[in-house]
Amino acid sequence: MDAIPTSIFYIGAAILGLELGGLASIFIQRWIDELPVLKPGRSRCPSCEHTLAWRDTIPVLSYFLLGGRCRHCDNPIGGQYMLVEISCLAWSLAVAYHFGLSLEWGVHLVLGTMLIAGSFIDFETFLLPNRITIGGAGLALAASFVLTEGPDWQDAMAGALFGGGLFWIMQHGYRLWRKEEGLGTGDIKLMCMIGAMTGLSGLPFAILVGALTGAVGSIVYMLSPSGKGMKTRIPFGPFLSLGCMTYILYGEPISRWWIAL
Ligand SMILES: [Zn+2]
Repeated sequence: MDAIPTSIFYIGAAILGLELGGLASIFIQRWIDELPVLKPGRSRCPSCEHTLAWRDTIPVLSYFLLGGRCRHCDNPIGGQYMLVEISCLAWSLAVAYHFGLSLEWGVHLVLGTMLIAGSFIDFETFLLPNRITIGGAGLALAASFVLTEGPDWQDAMAGALFGGGLFWIMQHGYRLWRKEEGLGTGDIKLMCMIGAMTGLSGLPFAILVGALTGAVGSIVYMLSPSGKGMKTRIPFGPFLSLGCMTYILYGEPISRWWIAL
């Protein structure tokens, strides 16, 4: 850490967060449009399909330079993607502050970016890509062998199995009880990823935060003009992800405070 001044590290973390946010936006857009995700190619305006020049795709900055509108057709563009980029920027700085310049920071930067991308996709489509959930579970499990901070591999493995298992039971229970789908299979796989990130010991905290914010979110959803009252469908992935990311940043101090009470 001494080799690189802290300020330089934070500037680097900010730039990396924004760039990853830009990549995440491209992934989200292409995944939803069912386009090949890894094929190189420039972004297009969703309204007029004009190919965007590089200067129109600089994270956050382009949005403000263009006033949130396409240069060619003047339709609104990029508002959602700016939210993705700002979320990734905030996450990168938060884990930089929490972990310092370390492998822990790099791994959590990537895993958090995956959760952010998954959350935006879930909001839009009620689906979670396997590339994110299964890929993230694999990455988090592999990281548990290497990282010194966070769960050891037994804890990560137990978290993945218990998180996924619990949601699998809930999915089947709900199906038997209500004769309809409540939880998606994507949520089960997401819980494997989250369990591997928090470990079994951190899982209750992450689920509790996810359930509480999800309950608040559900009420907001139901009352919103586009909602359908009690029949409104709510994506759970974003709230579970929020619970996981809150645990990564604040789980330990809050748990200590809780035990002290
Ligand atoms: Zn356009």
